[in-house]
Amino acid sequence: MSRWDVVIVGGGIVGTASALWLSRAGFKVLLLERWALGCGATAEGMGHIMAAVDSPDLAQLTAYSQSLWKELQPSMPADCEWRSTGTFWAALDSDEMTVAESLSKEYENLGLPAEIWSGSEARQHEPILGERIAGGLHAPDDAVIYTTNACRWLADMAVKEGAEIRFAEVSFVAKNLVGLKGGEQMTADHVVVCAGARSPDLIENLMVEPRRGHLVITDRVSTPVHRQIIELGYLRKSHGMEGSSVALNVQPRATGQLLIGSSREFQGWSREIDHKTVSEMMKLTINYMPELARVSAMRIWTGFRPSVPDGKPIIGEHSSGVWVNAGHEGLGITNAVGSASILTSLMTEKRPQITAKAFDAGRLIHGRSKG
Ligand SMILES: Cc1cc2nc3c(=O)[nH]c(=O)nc-3n(C[C@H](O)[C@H](O)[C@H](O)COP(=O)(O)OP(=O)(O)OC[C@H]3O[C@@H](n4cnc5c(N)ncnc54)[C@H](O)[C@@H]3O)c2cc1C
Repeated sequence: MSRWDVVIVGGGIVGTASALWLSRAGFKVLLLERWALGCGATAEGMGHIMAAVDSPDLAQLTAYSQSLWKELQPSMPADCEWRSTGTFWAALDSDEMTVAESLSKEYENLGLPAEIWSGSEARQHEPILGERIAGGLHAPDDAVIYTTNACRWLADMAVKEGAEIRFAEVSFVAKNLVGLKGGEQMTADHVVVCAGARSPDLIENLMVEPRRGHLVITDRVSTPVHRQIIELGYLRKSHGMEGSSVALNVQPRATGQLLIGSSREFQGWSREIDHKTVSEMMKLTINYMPELARVSAMRIWTGFRPSVPDGKPIIGEHSSGVWVNAGHEGLGITNAVGSASILTSLMTEKRPQITAKAFDAGRLIHGRSKG
């Protein structure tokens, strides 16, 4: 039986980032992925690296993660398509402008730049925005990456630091033990479950569930879009746990296409496209950007965010020797690196760079909820 310091289950962006950080800390790491690197939620999402400033714990984690991505960015290969697009939070009326003002204070508290734009300033910067836009908030520090290439790159770096990657499906984890489908077993000082929304397959009582989202990729658009454009109601809708919601979220791709999102719904693992939801998403988009009434959709798909009831990821030791880094919902691309750093600090018994208590692995377990 082979023995490792750490065996990580799951080769999405969270697993590969964790492999890199733990290898750099000197652990002998094995990463196990059942299908292909980045093939889960990592491939299905948008790749917006954003500060989520409205929730104090997530604000700290996203801002910290953003700073780590920025440190990595100069050595990132071109195919990761890092672009410092910034985000424009669009307001439709004076009430939403008030929300923009209060959000700008949250950015200021975090030491992040943000500025209020009037409707005409917004249209000057983003001519695709229609006359209904009252203004909004520009957050220049946010960025966009190509998720699957970033995931592969993190894995490549982890391998350079001594990590090993194997393609095999894990059937169970236990203290110091990982069992593969087919019967092989391996031992490890630490086992880390980074299986995204599939994590409860391995840790039965873990409160993570798939939260489906629809995305549309368009044909190339004639008016260039420079920033990620999101409606101001997005943060409330994404943190809320109500049944389903649709919020405007438009991302310019390097190809000149637009990625249009997004929806949130609990539908188990059904990949089926709900055309009513897509139609709502498109109506909302046209409300903000009327010329997109004429754009063609090239492809529509659904993906599954790993969702946790209190909206915060689970980062830490779940039971003796069994660790979790999962449940990142719609912020897992952003938070992959910050959570990897926290996990590594906890495993090496060092104080994490930011307070990690809110992400404690014991807080949300069926039958032993700590509130
Ligand atoms: C529509 C949509 C839009 C999004 N937009 C953004 C965004 O703009 N910005 C952002 O930060 N985040 C975004 N996200 C969220 C982000 O994609 C996820 O939070 C993130 O990808 C989660 O990564 P992960 O590595 O935890 O999970 P995954 O990427 O799902 O990886 C888990 C891996 O574990 C493997 N696995 C599972 N079970 C086993 C097993 N038994 N044995 C071996 N391997 C196993 C899977 O094959 C998979 O590769 C979005 C998500 C969606 C769906």
